[in-house]
Amino acid sequence: MSDLPKVIPDDYVFLAVRGADDAQFGKPSSAAGQARYMLIRPGMTVGEFLAIDLRGNQPRRADITANTKAKAGQTSANLILAAPATAEARAARAAYLGAAAPTAEADTLEFVAPESSNVEPAGAEAAAPVAVAPPTAAYIAPEPEARSPMLDPKKSRLVCEVDFDKDGKQNGFVRLFHSVHASAYGFIPIPITVIKNGEGPTAVLVSGNHGDEYEGQVALCDLARTLEPAKIKGRVIILPMANFPAGMAGRRTSPIDDVNLNRAFPGDPDGTVTQQIAYWIESTLLPKADFVADLHSGGSSLMYVPSALMKVSGNAKRDAAQRAMLEAFGAPMNYISAGGSGTGQDNTLSGGAERLGIPAIGTELAGSGTVTPAAARVVRRGINNLLVHAGILPESERIELPSPPRFVTVSGPEHFVYASESGVWEPLVELGQAVKAEQLAARIYQPETPWKPPVFLRFLADGVVLCKRIPGRTSRGDCLFHLGA
Ligand SMILES: [Zn+2]
Repeated sequence: MSDLPKVIPDDYVFLAVRGADDAQFGKPSSAAGQARYMLIRPGMTVGEFLAIDLRGNQPRRADITANTKAKAGQTSANLILAAPATAEARAARAAYLGAAAPTAEADTLEFVAPESSNVEPAGAEAAAPVAVAPPTAAYIAPEPEARSPMLDPKKSRLVCEVDFDKDGKQNGFVRLFHSVHASAYGFIPIPITVIKNGEGPTAVLVSGNHGDEYEGQVALCDLARTLEPAKIKGRVIILPMANFPAGMAGRRTSPIDDVNLNRAFPGDPDGTVTQQIAYWIESTLLPKADFVADLHSGGSSLMYVPSALMKVSGNAKRDAAQRAMLEAFGAPMNYISAGGSGTGQDNTLSGGAERLGIPAIGTELAGSGTVTPAAARVVRRGINNLLVHAGILPESERIELPSPPRFVTVSGPEHFVYASESGVWEPLVELGQAVKAEQLAARIYQPETPWKPPVFLRFLADGVVLCKRIPGRTSRGDCLFHLGA
């Protein structure tokens, strides 16, 4: 449908997804492992929204333009269709679908599978009208269809052992019930510490969002053990191993469902283990926060100059608060991220904080699947100073910065260098080095054909090298470097 708008207007409030193998035409599925909702907000540009792959239930980016090239009934393609509120747009959409034009008015849409589709015939239930919420809420879930309250899609199934409102220090677990062959009634124990003393701001501090990023995990273990309630004013909530299964495996993604928690937001209360964690964090944990720090590093495949970062949200007050948090955290390098280019968009934990309007910063502390002394110093000092900045710790606790924090921006693809070939790559610059556009960045060799000359890669913009790939073997599409400018 060539006339799909490039910018989704306010009256597009609901996205229906059709997976070729799942007869879904905007009908909320009640089957486990299938998507029920899309997230969309007015003003989003095409390709910016979050889609859920129905078959794998994997959150992923979707691009309306690309998907509209898919034929109805094509296997493996998901058709992402905005449900428009105007009669004209509805007719255009129906023409694209090959379905009868929905006759319903603005708030009700009916979807019918086209004859040519290989989609299983949808039953009476599938053809039922889907109520569409008014375009006021940022988060739009389908009507619960008279489901049991236990199945309310808005309620997380995770159970937290600690009382967030109680003064003192509590350690415990968030229980994610996971019934498997070896443990029928067992739960996955996600550790949590809550330290509270009277009224005051709430800090939510997260690490282990990626299980192979350890700097934040060790710093938050120290904090959970040593921070005494009497010393603070307000509340500190510590989630040091957010993706617990990934953390125990020392992996970026969960070994249970292979989902990357930081690409799974806003999650799904009935989804896979990782999607349930994301949903609990966004629906239950983040709303308690006055500010959030999500402590990442480069993990197994990347190494960073110890950095902290924020994403610009366009909300001047929130952006100023985030900038002040970065100044307080005091990492030697700080970057303002445009998101995208593989670094995650609104499907991250900080994307969830943005939906809730809560100031959030992240870090990229170092990486290579280990902890360096320099990065450990940066994160311990940073968390401490962030709590001082919020007034949770007294000013007397502030740790002086050895040097003023430096700020750069990371914009679009021009700040990234990707492998154009598979092979063994040789970096030609060092981390932290200033580089120029057109400067040689790397060579890629193919030792299996040693007489073949290496491929040279160049930087596309001026900047400082913030991040580089660690493994020597590379495949086309891997990020080898990214710059800040
Ligand atoms: Zn990470």
